Amino acid sequence: MKYISSRNKENLVSWSEAMVEGIAQDGGLFVPQEFPQIKNLADMVNMDYKEIAHEIIGAYFPSIEEADLGSIIDRAYDDKFSRKDIAPLEEVGDVHILELFHGPTLAFKDMALSILPHLLKKAMEIEGIEEELVILTATSGDTGKAALEGFADMDRIKIIVFYPRDGVSEIQKRQMISQEGKNTFVIGIEGNFDDAQGGVKDIFRDRDLGGEMQGAGYRLSSANSINIGRLVPQIVYYFHAYLSLLREKKLESGQKINIVVPTGNFGNILAAYYGKKMGLPVNKLICASNENNVLYDFINTGLYDRRRELKLTSSPSMDILVSSNLERLLYHISGQDHEYVRKKMEDLNTKGYYKVEELEMDDFYAGYSTEKEVEKSIGEVFDHEYYLMDPHTAVAYNVYRKYRDETGDKTLTVIASTASPYKFGRAVAAGLGLDTGDLDEFQILSHLEGRTRLAIPKAIGELGQKPILHKTICTKGEMKSKLMKILQVGDKDD
Ligand SMILES: *Cc1c(COP(=O)(O)O)cnc(C)c1O
Repeated sequence: MKYISSRNKENLVSWSEAMVEGIAQDGGLFVPQEFPQIKNLADMVNMDYKEIAHEIIGAYFPSIEEADLGSIIDRAYDDKFSRKDIAPLEEVGDVHILELFHGPTLAFKDMALSILPHLLKKAMEIEGIEEELVILTATSGDTGKAALEGFADMDRIKIIVFYPRDGVSEIQKRQMISQEGKNTFVIGIEGNFDDAQGGVKDIFRDRDLGGEMQGAGYRLSSANSINIGRLVPQIVYYFHAYLSLLREKKLESGQKINIVVPTGNFGNILAAYYGKKMGLPVNKLICASNENNVLYDFINTGLYDRRRELKLTSSPSMDILVSSNLERLLYHISGQDHEYVRKKMEDLNTKGYYKVEELEMDDFYAGYSTEKEVEKSIGEVFDHEYYLMDPHTAVAYNVYRKYRDETGDKTLTVIASTASPYKFGRAVAAGLGLDTGDLDEFQILSHLEGRTRLAIPKAIGELGQKPILHKTICTKGEMKSKLMKILQVGDKDD
């Protein structure tokens, strides 16, 4: 099982190298050379989350010894999760909602970021890495906190998070800037998520900086979904959902399901695609965007065009114009054509768009939801089903309604729910028609709790009392110098 850069067929590495590197030297993303096949799905029906994780993760990262992998999985999916079944599936009207937000930071990023640090440690051990690892992370709100939580106080690792200062929810920001742990650093960017992600990519591409860092005993890596160590653990919950439907006899063995995913960087839905490639019976992968509907245009027309203004929406974790993981999909659907991918990514970089005419994208359906539709869906689902959705989940729910109206397809459908509604109180309250006037975020949450009788999760209730520990703000251009200052590398006269 080798990994290869999406842009260069000579660049072939082991999983541990791929994980430690994060992104390939040539700027490409590491992809598995082949998809491991899960042939005995019906035999896995009584497995719990950890056992399924063992099968899937073990297939992608084969050189971890059984016992080591077992203990890594045990440490990742322990009582940090408020549910024993880790990712419960709730029947809500005519859909099943896969709740991926019961981890410590209340968003789906915990599903992978609670295990990534342990996998990365193992990869460093296998690769014999002596340097201290510096994890650079750009976040649209949820990755940052989940990565901080996952890496806090791990030795020989520093974690630095860049978030768009005005592009995250109040709760998301509070979660990050109150982070404890002496190896954690959190910096606000005067810009949007694409600026933060672009800045991080520039730092990775900076060879001189890389040299200086190495000289000082540091090595850069990434906790963004460009890291293969993020992607693989996300495949697990799609199998888990399918198997629990089988167990409850809502499906027959081999029967297909639709999967709807609220999409930003294309990581979560790509994991579902990988699942399908491994033998998970999937009919349509439904890609749901908010008003930043670049992926909707791409899947429907073949034109990927980032030349537009990024809109700030009520689903900030999807306010993205450059969906990094789409590069991996391009690689797979172009028949592993490295040259083709390299050319398209170069177009995106230099011209701001690329066009694919010849590729088959029938696995996917794409739709998007407007801000009005999101608000309406939150209210309707609560009124009719007594189920409270966060705005990201509502984007997906609304796109599914459109799909169903358009196609009449009655295939059993699973919607990925990516965050707790309490992370986005203001938008959720608006959906329920509550008057939040000049209430602060925490007062809004109390109102929501009163109205819905759903308890505020402990991790959010406590936030108001936590001291703010991280106050640094900078521009995209200053990211590199901030990094060097934190690490005390190079010219410190800035
Ligand atoms: C990150 C995130 C998404 C988007 O997931 P991608 O893997 O980037 O497509 C959707 N919803 C929430 C709540 C998120 O945190």
